[in-house]
Order: sequence, then C-alpha cells, then structure tokens
Amino acid sequence: MNKFDLIIVGGGAAGMMASISFKRKYKNRSVALIDRTFALGRKILVCGAGRCNITNINLSEDTTKYYYGAPKFFIQSIFDQFGFEDIKNFFIDLGIPLYVERKTDIGKMFPITDQAKSVTALLEDEIQRLGVEIFLNTEVIRIKKESNLFILDTKNIGQNNKNCEIKFGSEFLILSAGGKTYPALGSNGSGYNLAMSLGHRLIKPVPSAVPLESKNTLSQQLQGLKFEMTVTSIIEDKKVKTRTDDVMFTQYGFSGPAILNISREISIHINRKGGKDVKVMLNFLPNYTFNEALKLLETRWNKRPEQTLEKSLYGLFPNKFSEVFLKCIDFKPYISVNKLSENDKITLAKYLTEFIVSITGTRGWNEAEFTAGGIDTSELKPFTLESKIVDKLYFCGEILDVDGDVGGFNLSWAWASGFVAGLLN
Ligand SMILES: Cc1cc2nc3c(=O)[nH]c(=O)nc-3n(C[C@H](O)[C@H](O)[C@H](O)COP(=O)(O)OP(=O)(O)OC[C@H]3O[C@@H](n4cnc5c(N)ncnc54)[C@H](O)[C@@H]3O)c2cc1C
Repeated sequence: MNKFDLIIVGGGAAGMMASISFKRKYKNRSVALIDRTFALGRKILVCGAGRCNITNINLSEDTTKYYYGAPKFFIQSIFDQFGFEDIKNFFIDLGIPLYVERKTDIGKMFPITDQAKSVTALLEDEIQRLGVEIFLNTEVIRIKKESNLFILDTKNIGQNNKNCEIKFGSEFLILSAGGKTYPALGSNGSGYNLAMSLGHRLIKPVPSAVPLESKNTLSQQLQGLKFEMTVTSIIEDKKVKTRTDDVMFTQYGFSGPAILNISREISIHINRKGGKDVKVMLNFLPNYTFNEALKLLETRWNKRPEQTLEKSLYGLFPNKFSEVFLKCIDFKPYISVNKLSENDKITLAKYLTEFIVSITGTRGWNEAEFTAGGIDTSELKPFTLESKIVDKLYFCGEILDVDGDVGGFNLSWAWASGFVAGLLN
C-alpha cells in the first residue's frame, strides 16, 4: 500500500490549490494528488474559452452576493481566510500577473497572457517544487476508514500506466473531485459516490450556466445569430432574474452569456424539482422600456415614412433578424412604415421589448459550465471544511453545494476553499 499523510482526490483547481497550501504549511509531511485523467487541471484549460477567468475584482466587496447553495456565513468564512487579495497575490507570486477585462463591465480578471495554459503550467511547477506526489490516470473507486486510516482502492484508467489497482492509505483525506460538468475533462460525479459512501448527504446536482431549450421560430430560423439583449427568467409567472449580455439563437433554443447567467434557477426548477411553466422574456432593445422603444421607433418612422418596415429596423439589430422577427409576429416586412396603425406600432414595440418564449428544458452536463448542488455543507465545519461526520476528512471546490455567477466566481471558490482545506485546520 502507498501511504501518505494526506491524499487529495481530484487534481483540478481546488485539489491543486489544496496540495500547495498543505505543502507550504507542512513541509515535511507527504501528500499524494490523485486524478483519474492524464493531466492536472484540465478544466482550467477550458475556462474563459481558454483564457481562464481566474477571479473577479468584485469579490473584494460583497463576496457572498455572487454565490448560491451553502448559507452566506459558510461561504464568507472561507473567503475571510483566503479572499480576493490573497487569490490575486497568490497568482502574482507564482508569476501570473492579472488584468481586469474592460470589454464587459463585470470585473472579470484574466492572466495577462490570456492563456489558461500559463496557469496550469505554473501551478504544476509549484506543486512539483513543493514535492507533492502526483498519480494520474488513477481513479479512486472506493474509500473506507479503518482504525484512523483512510484506505483507497484505485483503478488505472490510462493505457500504458503500470501503476494499476494499487491501494493507497492516508491519515487525512481531501475530496476535491469536482461536480458533473464536462465529464470528458474528468469530473464525472464519482466524487459524490465516494462522499456518500462515507456518510455524506448529496443535494441533487443539476447543470448550471447551461443553455436553454425552447421550440420557437426565431431560434429555428436564426441559428448562430448572436447579439446583446436583456433576458428575464419567469418561473411560474414570477420574474426571477434579469441579465443583459449576448444571446445566441441555436437550433435547440438559446445560448450565450446572458442565458447562462439566468439558467441556474430554471435548471433547479426543471431538473431538481420536476417543475414546469418556465418562460424567458427577451428584450431585443436592451435597456429600453416599452415606452422608450416606442419613442425610438416613432422617431425613425417619422424621419423616413416611405421606408419599409424591415429596413426601419436595420441598424438596431442584425439585418437578418428584422425580416425573420417581423414574419414571426405576423407583420409584413415590406410595407411602408407610414401604413402602420397606432395599434401596429404599439404591438411592435411590445414584441421588441417583451417577447416571451416558453422554455422546455436545459441542455445537459456536456454543455453546462457549473454544477448547482453537491455535498451538503451543513455537514461540514464552516471554518475548516472538515467533515462533521468523519474525522480528518475535508472537502473543497465544486464537489460542494456552492456555485457562483459567471465571471470568475467558481474558480475563486475553488482557489479559496482549496487553500483552506489544505491547511487541515
Ligand atoms: C467550459 C467551462 C468554462 C468555465 N469557465 C470558467 C471561468 O472562466 N471562470 C470560472 O471561475 N469558472 C469557470 N468554469 C468553472 C470552473 O472550471 C470550475 O468551477 C472549477 O474548475 C472547479 O474546480 P474543482 O477543482 O472543484 O473541480 P474540477 O476542475 O472538475 O476537478 C476535479 C478533478 O477531480 C478528478 N476526479 C473526479 N473524480 C475522481 C475520482 N474518482 N478519482 C480521481 N480523480 C477524480 C477529475 O478528473 C478532475 O480533474 C468553467 C467551467 C467550464 C466547464
């Protein structure tokens, strides 16, 4: 049996950070970082479309505002120990200066190289410098605790790796096996089973930051078209969340950052609670109310009364949208705007600012960025992330019932909770 002081199951962002924080604190103690895939931090590489949105400058203010799942005090107790400044300085110290992206106004921070590869490479370099032992292509399939020792059965899932089916043993254990999104990158939900086999409760995980399915003419006919809109989720006739950002029409419905950002509550309603009656309201003129939109259109129509209705919308939206949209709401694209009745004008402004579509479902784990749900944090000690059920068992990262908004908050949770878990307080 391979024996270590600490074993960390899962070498993603949280597990890598936990191994660094452990080794910096306990130089002479041994740690193994085990991962079922062929490399550490594979999900980091796809973060921010390969640019790695490491953290968010707004984390320094009202930290818990951006997080869901666990109670606010629980999340705050972790960021109190490793907050925004600590995350930023940790990466600067590794040799990764960060910058705030100005394109959007939401405080996303990236490495100045815009390369997630610099992040994984320098994290791994630090892990090796500290002497963490890495076991790749090694899936932990069973864990039990026998007289103060965690015993782990593993299965080799690589091709040429001889290091197969060995047992590991350790005094301390950290579970950082991630959630269920992008299973091809490693986190396939097996961590939940390991945690449950040790007595922990699972809050049903559902895909979050996930595209939405909707059968509607616009999506079918405008596949691939993307522009900025304001979207509002409406669940059982209650408006839940509003966001303004790009929306993409797709063959199955809608995607794009605005949609991902309002998907969490919809996914929980449909996928966890089995609920129905979900709609999304699209305002194609973001930040314009119905009255403002009507005024804007009337100004254009008064200026060019002979113009076709379709052309009168050019310049406000991608050209292709105008014709498809007008046909979809039963307006003739080629009539002159001076033929519009007062009622037509009101109807048009209404549809442009309050277009409602029914949502039939969400896309699945292969297309979701985060997991909402996970191991119930009420069974953990808030300050240390140690289990209240099994001594010397710790958790960190996405495996827990904590998820954040799009914008660097999920990695921030992985860094902060990984750092705290690795201290083994
Ligand atoms: C497409 C995409 C883009 C994203 N972009 C961003 C972004 O820009 N900013 C941001 O903040 N967040 C982003 N996220 C979310 C972020 O990547 C995750 O929240 C974060 O990486 C979670 O880290 P983790 O270490 O907890 O889990 P993971 O990164 O999933 O790591 C878990 C590891 O555990 C291993 N593992 C699982 N089970 C076992 C087992 N039984 N035995 C051994 N090993 C096991 C897996 O192989 C994996 O390597 C994105 C996610 C996706 C999918």
